[in-house]
Amino acid sequence: MTTASSRPDIRRVGMFGGAFDPPHLAHRSLAESALAQLNLDLLLVLPTGQAWHKARTLTEADHRLAMSLLAFGDLPNTRVDPRETRREGATYTADTLGELAREYPGAQLFLVLGADQLLAFKTWMRWQDVMSKATLAVANRAVHIGVDAVSEGHPMTDLSGVDLPFVQLDMPPTNVSATAVRARFSRPVGPHSAHEALVQPAVADYISQHHLYQTHT
Ligand code: ATP
Repeated sequence: MTTASSRPDIRRVGMFGGAFDPPHLAHRSLAESALAQLNLDLLLVLPTGQAWHKARTLTEADHRLAMSLLAFGDLPNTRVDPRETRREGATYTADTLGELAREYPGAQLFLVLGADQLLAFKTWMRWQDVMSKATLAVANRAVHIGVDAVSEGHPMTDLSGVDLPFVQLDMPPTNVSATAVRARFSRPVGPHSAHEALVQPAVADYISQHHLYQTHT
């Protein structure tokens, strides 16, 4: 078995957590931006357990893991990691970062997230601990205005003056959200509908085959 300490070549590790219910095109673009701009040796995509900050019950973890594999599996240096879905009770980023710090001693850890999460950062469990372990790598996110608002021309989340150490990822802002994807899939899906525009075709097929999101929440 390869142990972390036998992998001194892994110096820069990104952690990209999310419900991924489902993973959509902005998630993919965020992962690609992080890999390229942070020069990562490893990007771990970590679907959450029943995340404490989500009001709704998440889709079964096995489905979210399977869709994450379809969405991110072909990216270089990227691994979909199921550990948070297997943890009993609530899962916290601080705990996962602690594990990664032990698994990749000496590596620089980056926490990849969208600006909406950064602005909520101080509500996270043990956020000071998170900050001490990882550099926040933040992508701007278009403000969601109405169901079909398009990003361009709308005000962006303003990161200036945010009193947290972070690096900003350069990524075209988009307001694609998993909420919007679930809403679209709650209506009948035609072969040439716009559903696929929000998620990769393989993810769209998976959602259809497994009849996910037919009751939108
Ligand atoms: P939901 O609509 O259910 O709240 P979501 O689209 O925000 O879901 P998550 O799985 O909760 O998706 O997000 C995982 C991570 O991806 C978070 O850090 C979030 O900020 C980021 N993210 C999601 N959508 C975007 C986007 N359009 N632009 C930038 N970052 C995004």
